[in-house]
Amino acid sequence: MLGLMQDWPLLVSKIIEHAAVNHGDVEIVTKTVEGPIHRYTYADCHLRAKKVAQALERYGIQPGDRVATLAWNTYRHVELWYGISGMGGVAHTINPRLFKDQIIYIANHAEDRVMFLDTSFVSMIEEYQDQMKTIETFVILAAEEHMPETSLKNAICYETWVEAEDGDYDWPKLDENDAAGLCYTSGTTGNPKGVLYSNRSNVLMSMVATGRDVLGNSSWEVIMPVVPMFHANAWGIPYGTAAVGAKLVLNGPHFDGETLHDLIEQEEVTSTAGVPTIWLGLLNYLEETGKRLDGVKSVLIGGSAAPLSMIIAFERDYGVSVRHAWGMTEMSPLGTIGAMTRETVKWPDEARWELKCKQGRAILGVEMKIADDDGNLLPRDGKTFGHLLVRGPWIASEYFRGEGGSILDADGWFDSGDVATIDERGFMQITDRAKDVVKSGGEWISSIELENAAVGHPDVAEAAVIGVPHPKWSERPLLIIVPQEGKSVDRAEMREFLTDKVAKWWLPDDVVTVDELPHTATGKILKTELRKQFEGYKLPDA
Ligand code: ADP
Repeated sequence: MLGLMQDWPLLVSKIIEHAAVNHGDVEIVTKTVEGPIHRYTYADCHLRAKKVAQALERYGIQPGDRVATLAWNTYRHVELWYGISGMGGVAHTINPRLFKDQIIYIANHAEDRVMFLDTSFVSMIEEYQDQMKTIETFVILAAEEHMPETSLKNAICYETWVEAEDGDYDWPKLDENDAAGLCYTSGTTGNPKGVLYSNRSNVLMSMVATGRDVLGNSSWEVIMPVVPMFHANAWGIPYGTAAVGAKLVLNGPHFDGETLHDLIEQEEVTSTAGVPTIWLGLLNYLEETGKRLDGVKSVLIGGSAAPLSMIIAFERDYGVSVRHAWGMTEMSPLGTIGAMTRETVKWPDEARWELKCKQGRAILGVEMKIADDDGNLLPRDGKTFGHLLVRGPWIASEYFRGEGGSILDADGWFDSGDVATIDERGFMQITDRAKDVVKSGGEWISSIELENAAVGHPDVAEAAVIGVPHPKWSERPLLIIVPQEGKSVDRAEMREFLTDKVAKWWLPDDVVTVDELPHTATGKILKTELRKQFEGYKLPDA
């Protein structure tokens, strides 16, 4: 027997419509590409999103057509996002930090018809445009007075284009399974692959993610996602803020500690989110200036493991509660969150900080398990590592255009490519990417755990571990460090420092100092590149 409830499709347009009706006067504040602060409200955003939809229809964008954005987190990007998905188009957020060949590949693979781009990217795209085969028109996200001279074909001024419309528009009643967004994985191996989000998956994830134990959104919060919208929908945060009517603060292209701190103070930010590299910059700035983070209640850290030292700095030194999260582009991206339980919230600080190094428990809508190489279920004992598999309504079932073939096993599980433990309480901890574990004498050494221990050294700014071939052990760990400015740490000192932090046989065989580490476009250490750099490296006793 079927239930007798209304058919109310889960559409992205419903989110911004709800915000405009119920929280219409709440602000979206942007530190713009041009520099000054821009303010408007959810009601303004909704109106402009409708104008975007009208303009796209007038242009001839059909349901399912891909429309690219190459843009920072700004109010224009937000209204575009809602406008494109709301009218039935697919908002394809391109990561501008990808390499030239990847950006060209992605735009061609997606068959983007129109590209909206910030002025920051005009000269870059002028150079690429001849190789982007399907883009007919480039819309530059600026007002007439800021329009650059450009050789981009059919270049249009966004403000003129949008403001030609009147906003008298009804959102179409799409099927909730219609595609809403497209985001390519960073492609650290092989070509980038497209993850095609639906209206339903975006809305469902945002509804769950607003919960108190997840992002903890509420109408009296001021939320600043420093994670870019081209990085897996800014982890869904701009949807979640609109869903509850929280004030949204956007940092545009400004990621330095000083600007982030100014925004936090001036806009009274209570909650923020980003990758560890961003927080390193902010924490350094606070240390140098003696400034505080007094209004901030929580920081969401994800994308890479949050090191213990960072968790302690936020919680002990600045009184900011850390929420450690794990996910991936294929998961829209939220999978787990390290919210405390009724029991663990009472633990002594040190024990809680250790627990917060784990990536946390699955949220409703994500099933998760660990399995061995043969697919056998492994115990939830907090010690046994295995392949981390996930399943749920906002997890990809295949890549765009079937790239890479089938990605689910017979029972519908998706292999995250991560290796993890899950403890008795359900707290998952990533021990590594499957391809990054160091396989020493048949046992696995977690490169992440070693890196996290190494960055706990006061003179180390960043650390990476790779496996280097070894005649006896097959592989042994090599630790590569970037020291803090003016400091140095040698092999003996580092091994001594690590002695009580990791098992003896995990100690790196050698420690090398470099000026900088290569990073992917989403701020993760690019291990493939490091392995190339250190190809043929001879360990001291090998
Ligand atoms: P995202 O866009 O969310 O960073 P990507 O698809 O680029 O996602 O990368 C996902 C991978 O990033 C995960 O499979 C995992 O290896 C890593 N990752 C994400 N969050 C964490 C975390 N909190 N700790 C450790 N690794 C993480």
